[in-house]
Amino acid sequence: MADPIIALETVRREFAAGDVSVVALDDVSLSIQPGEMVAIIGSSGSGKSTLLNILGCLDRPTSGTYRVAGQNVSELDADALAALRREHFGFIFQRYHLLGDLSAGENVEIPAIYAGMKARERRARAEQLLARLGVSDRRGHRPNQLSGGQQQRVSIARALINGAEVILADEPTGALDRRSGEEVLKILKELHREGRTIIIVTHDADVAARAERIIELRDGKIVSDRRTETTDTPERPVAVSRTPWDNVPGWSGALRRLREASRMALVAMAAHRLRAFLTMLGIIIGIAAVSSVVALGNASQRKVLSDISSLGTNTIEVFPGKDFGDARAGKIKTLVLDDARALDRQDFIAGVTPTVSTSTTVRYRGNESNVLVNGVGESYFQVKGAKLAKGRLFDTDAIRNIERQVVIDDNTRKTFFADDQTSGIGRVIWLGKVPCRIVGVIAQQQGGFGSNQNLSVYLPYTTVQAQFTGDHSLRSILLRISDDISTNLAQDAVTTMLTQRHNTRDFVILNTDDIRRTITSTTQTLAFLVAAIAVISLVVGGIGVMNIMLVSVSERISEIGVRMAVGARRSDILQQFLVEATLISSIGGIAGILVAMLLGLAINLAVPGFEVSYSTFSIGAAFLTSTGIGVAFGFFPARRAAFLDPVVALSRD
Ligand code: ADP
Ligand code: MG
Repeated sequence: MADPIIALETVRREFAAGDVSVVALDDVSLSIQPGEMVAIIGSSGSGKSTLLNILGCLDRPTSGTYRVAGQNVSELDADALAALRREHFGFIFQRYHLLGDLSAGENVEIPAIYAGMKARERRARAEQLLARLGVSDRRGHRPNQLSGGQQQRVSIARALINGAEVILADEPTGALDRRSGEEVLKILKELHREGRTIIIVTHDADVAARAERIIELRDGKIVSDRRTETTDTPERPVAVSRTPWDNVPGWSGALRRLREASRMALVAMAAHRLRAFLTMLGIIIGIAAVSSVVALGNASQRKVLSDISSLGTNTIEVFPGKDFGDARAGKIKTLVLDDARALDRQDFIAGVTPTVSTSTTVRYRGNESNVLVNGVGESYFQVKGAKLAKGRLFDTDAIRNIERQVVIDDNTRKTFFADDQTSGIGRVIWLGKVPCRIVGVIAQQQGGFGSNQNLSVYLPYTTVQAQFTGDHSLRSILLRISDDISTNLAQDAVTTMLTQRHNTRDFVILNTDDIRRTITSTTQTLAFLVAAIAVISLVVGGIGVMNIMLVSVSERISEIGVRMAVGARRSDILQQFLVEATLISSIGGIAGILVAMLLGLAINLAVPGFEVSYSTFSIGAAFLTSTGIGVAFGFFPARRAAFLDPVVALSRD
């Protein structure tokens, strides 16, 4: 006699059921020759399925040895067992176990995908098998569009696509009507005649009678093992070849598997569109938030800095008061014109502009409004970067002669002279009780100078002191530092000088460089804070992905079981779920980037002078982040799926 294709030696399988253990197989010894057609019968619960699962390497014995073509399978690792199932065994289940999201043809191709077969060859073979089994016209149908008999034929085609020297069928006719069952049996007999080894589990004596050998189980023991009259033994039985069972397809095979995993992930996503979208939403919001926040932070920092640069560089401003925000600053009258004159005599100071200010009402032809009256020197406008829109500015003579000349800002022009051709130039307005003639209008500036809603007018500081405040104290002294002197050195010198003059330090100095630095670091801190919040939302999105993937895994446990039964490796399952998580996150990431860009565009259109832009770097980083989230958070569920026990997964419904 030839070597047995299947040999069991005192195989025992116990299941833990609570505290006791159920013996499903009780020291079964059995050997089957290549090309035999064996029926395993017995009443329900006698251990038939348990035996078949062990034969198909879906389950492992508790004790005893099982050899396939002489190879002890307990010495094989998970991948080799998967290869054995994929390349040499073909499973047929009572409930067909086709994957509902795939067409009949695609179901047939699954084992070939895991074998790394080329798409064209796979398709051709599947078509050929479906034609042979009489269901080629149902190739594009979903399992739920097929009758039971048709589904079982599709599942037989799936069993055969990689060759299948051994066919294992668990109650293949159990769910079929008489006629369909008869046809399936005919197919099995035909496969037997071709030399395949067929093992059928059945509780139907008529079905068993078609085999040439009947093994009967009772309470996990073989109670009879006999031959029937049937004699259609094939002349050339096919044995399972002892080629390495853990052959890994090369690069091209691995690539094909990856491509198929992506396709399957897309199919799964299409089948659960809403769920996939909701999962993506977390990522979309997270990525959009992070990239918008970063871009907005950069844009506002750029804008603030450009506003500050309109303050002019190399200027410092001295204010009365012990510190910024000193509540008594208004009462400190020690900063006076003499201080300004003394500072003007210093070499390192290129220009001095004393300023005073007060507020009063402005009236013109019955209109009235509050106004901020600024008393300034002639170089004030230049230092502050203000531009003249119309007319002229006042000069040194106007200051010396305490002239009542006024330069108005754009808000004042709009309020009083909106319809006036002259823009107010040459008109006389009343500031409190003082009539003043308008000589110039300064242009509206974005951001910095005169951008708020208040009205401001500018007069010679001498005029304001004489006509409004009535003393020599100043609101501030604006100093322009010579180009060759550092602002900090100048600031130190001014501090020393004024402290000596006042015998105390009752003034503060504002340095534009300081402001710039403060604002930069403030916006950076803010951007960092908001980015941190955005990152948290990304993590939450990632956890959402993980959640959904876990749900997806537990929903598809029986699918995973089927895939493993037809030969998927752990790495195939891992890959499938990982690819799905990664696809969801990276598609979500791309959508998030698009949302952020649209948002930036809208902001750019809505807020003039604001320039939100996305660097390639930040887009790339956002994309990589979202993909990374998919991989990181998808890994745990995917691994969980990959390490499922095939029988446990299969029996889940
Ligand atoms: P059959 O297929 O002949 O109806 P099974 O092989 O399914 O019988 O089951 C044989 C015995 O093993 C039964 O008593 C059954 O309850 C028990 N059994 C099968 N699978 C499990 C399991 N996963 N856990 C616990 N007991 C099991
Ligand atoms: Mg059973």
